[in-house]
Amino acid sequence: MKQVTIKDKTFSISISSDQIQKRIAEIAVQITKDLKDRNPIFISVLKGAFLFSADLLKKVDMDCEISFMRVSSYSGTQSTGNIKSLIGLSEDITGRTVVLLEDIVDTGETVVYLLNELKKNNPAEIKIASLLLKPKALKHDLKIDYVGFEVPNDFLVGYGLDYDGLGRNLEDIYKIVE
Ligand code: 5GP
Ligand code: MG
Repeated sequence: MKQVTIKDKTFSISISSDQIQKRIAEIAVQITKDLKDRNPIFISVLKGAFLFSADLLKKVDMDCEISFMRVSSYSGTQSTGNIKSLIGLSEDITGRTVVLLEDIVDTGETVVYLLNELKKNNPAEIKIASLLLKPKALKHDLKIDYVGFEVPNDFLVGYGLDYDGLGRNLEDIYKIVE
C-alpha cells in the first residue's frame, strides 16, 4: 500500500491519480453538456481547488472564464467553522452563470459562506462542483451539482489538500492512518 509521511502523520493512498483524472473527465463532459452557450465563469476556491480547477478547465469544451477567491477555515486537521475571506472576487458576475469549484465539501460552512457572498452580486445562477464530498459531515441543506467522489469523514491530503501547508502537490489523494 502506497504511503506518505507528512510531519508527524502517516497517510495511505485512498484515490489514485488515474481515478481522479477519469472522474474529472466525466464531470467536464457533464458540465459542458449542461452549460454550453452560457459562457460560465468558474470560480476556483484557493488554495485547495487549484489542481482540480486546472484539470477540469482543460477538459471542458466551451467558452468560459476563470477567477479565484481565497478563504481559510481549517487549522491542522480540524475545520474551525470560522471562515476568513483572504482574497475577494474582482470580476462583475451580475447576470452570469457561476460555477464554484471546491476541493472538498465537509461541513458545508465554506460553501454557504461563499454562496452568500456571491449572491450579493446577483449572478443568474450558481452551480457547485466539488471534487470530494463528506456527506456524513455536511451540516447544511446544500445541493452540490457536480461531485467527484463521496468520501468518509477521514482527514485527507494530496491533490490540492494540505496538512499544515504540505502535501498539496501529491498527485493521488491519501487518508490519515489512525
Ligand atoms: P467546510 O467549510 O465544508 O467544513 O470545509 C471546507 C474546507 O475545509 C475545504 O475547502 C478544505 O479546505 C477543508 N477540508 C475539509 N476536509 C478536509 C480534509 O479532509 N483534508 C484537508 N486537507 N482539508 C479539508
Ligand atoms: Mg477548500
